Amino acid sequence: MSGAPIPSIDFCDLAVPGVQRLQAYQPGKPIDELQRELGIREVIKLASNENPFGPSPKAIAALQTQLHDLARYPDGNGFILKKALSDRYSVALNQITLGNGSNDILEFVARAFVQPGDEVIFSQHAFAVYPIVTQAVGGKAIIVPTINYAHDLAAMAKAVTARTRVIFVANPNNPTGTWFDETALQAFLTAIPGNVIVVLDEAYFEYARHSEMQAQGYPDGMQFLARFPNLIVSRTFSKAYGLAGLRVGYAVSQPGIADILNRVRQPFNVNTLALFAATAALDDQEHIEKGVTHNARAMRLYERTLQSMKLNYIPSAGNFISIDMGRTAAPLYDALLRQGVIVRPVANYAMPNHLRITLGTEQENTRFFTALTTVLNA
Ligand SMILES: *Cc1c(COP(=O)(O)O)cnc(C)c1O
Repeated sequence: MSGAPIPSIDFCDLAVPGVQRLQAYQPGKPIDELQRELGIREVIKLASNENPFGPSPKAIAALQTQLHDLARYPDGNGFILKKALSDRYSVALNQITLGNGSNDILEFVARAFVQPGDEVIFSQHAFAVYPIVTQAVGGKAIIVPTINYAHDLAAMAKAVTARTRVIFVANPNNPTGTWFDETALQAFLTAIPGNVIVVLDEAYFEYARHSEMQAQGYPDGMQFLARFPNLIVSRTFSKAYGLAGLRVGYAVSQPGIADILNRVRQPFNVNTLALFAATAALDDQEHIEKGVTHNARAMRLYERTLQSMKLNYIPSAGNFISIDMGRTAAPLYDALLRQGVIVRPVANYAMPNHLRITLGTEQENTRFFTALTTVLNA
């Protein structure tokens, strides 16, 4: 091989404008990556808000029944899972859109409803995928400041203009764990014009809607669908259901919206294993209840322990908690890695002093606090 040198091309110049300015999503560090990098064997990961107990045994059993059938394409309509969701939540089949994780849903919304220059509203410290899907289609992100890390829903409603197409709002929010109640949701949806799509991201719904929180007014977004036809409720099997590795989530909306989302969906976006496992997981509410009860107990432990350590934290309705380290958290993150504990730095959420910790098993939580004490005393 010889000849003229290959001209160097800046491929970034070739990308569409929104993508040129995009930064890729930074996931939590995988366990085996830390094992490779630092040669640490005993690693725990409390970084991606997964269920520390994994999925229901029923989901595992359902997976096994499908292993012989992987040569076939999945059911592109995802009938069994839609049917199970429809039965469980009393919504029609044609109100449901399945996603390869609920991130897929967020992307459908941006692709289907946002043109270059259109405005998309979300909160400061909101989930990192909202800016990514917005920018990728050339949308203009309108970022509304929070009040004490919580969504300022009134300010978000005020930020609506004639160019607003979509609002993303998570309840509870990640990485802050903050949440709003039924009255606040009702007032917010009432204030939003009917031609603006509101995506209510309920990725942590199961964790948040335990009895105590329900008594405090934590809302079920699906109960607002009939009154607000511009609403999309998105949920996932990645968190409380313990199936993050399979990638399956869903949206519930009016059929008219589901029809639009379905047009930009890849034909087989949810694979066979995911369909069957999620269907079985939905049928094991006992497993969910156990996980949610454990989480509520673990949250009280974190709160008590952090108070005794004189560390501030943001009260959270999820299965994670963001702790204010009172200084730049990055060195503490690194020090925790050297202790074999992976947590999540959130500087990319404009929270450079916080670390987000996913609540783990009892053993993992004990190990985290031991490691935290060690690195704080070092
Ligand atoms: C984890 C998370 C999701 C879910 O992502 P999947 O693609 O379903 O795994 C969605 N929204 C928020 C706010 C999350 O934290």
